[in-house]
Amino acid sequence: MKTYILSPHIDDAAFGLTCTISKLISNHVSVDLINCFTITKWTGVFVSKDIEVVSALRKQEDAAFNQYLGSAIKVTNLELLDAPLRNNYIHQFHPFNENELELIEQLKNHLLQQVDGLLFCPLALGNHIDHVLCLEAVIQVYPKIKVVFFEDLPYANRITLDEIKFHVDNLAKRLDAKLNSFISDLDQYTIDKNQAIHLYKSQVDEEICAEIIAHQNALNGERLWGEADNINLLKSLLN
Ligand SMILES: [Zn+2]
Repeated sequence: MKTYILSPHIDDAAFGLTCTISKLISNHVSVDLINCFTITKWTGVFVSKDIEVVSALRKQEDAAFNQYLGSAIKVTNLELLDAPLRNNYIHQFHPFNENELELIEQLKNHLLQQVDGLLFCPLALGNHIDHVLCLEAVIQVYPKIKVVFFEDLPYANRITLDEIKFHVDNLAKRLDAKLNSFISDLDQYTIDKNQAIHLYKSQVDEEICAEIIAHQNALNGERLWGEADNINLLKSLLN
């Protein structure tokens, strides 16, 4: 069984799933990382305003993360424009407009053609439009593809468990499915997630890294959501 991660931006997979990815790799499970909105000038700390400079730098940071995990991840960058370069806003506040509907179609086609295994998809906690587009594409191909959903970080650490559950319940209704939670725990886990996320130097400061690690420590791992069959499939890959 192969696994795939739908990562809206370069860094979302690492922030949400480093522990899980590292365990999959040590079990020799193949991990394909699909980075979607990789044309960007977005940085968390000032580096440059140049799109080419920032896009290239972020790929280097991703390569350093991959190297930290033994270069076992197969990376595909879809080279889509990120939200600020597209429509000048970041959080969804109205129905999808025309270019967003086209992006959903592109993402759906990519998933249907390329994914042959278990897919990790962001819950889109925090309502960042690029995360919402990824989730929407997955909702529209569900259940043709087996999916488990991961918590977007650091956003998930800024809201309560009840707020996360409310979001998951709405998603479950749209999927017409029952979604259970599962913690991919830290037992026999050797990678230092704090060190791994610090590799995304242009995106993080100490506060963001601390939030991501606080969420992991509170859960003793990374929380995933999915239908029982898909969670069981994930458990079998992690054991
Ligand atoms: Zn993101």
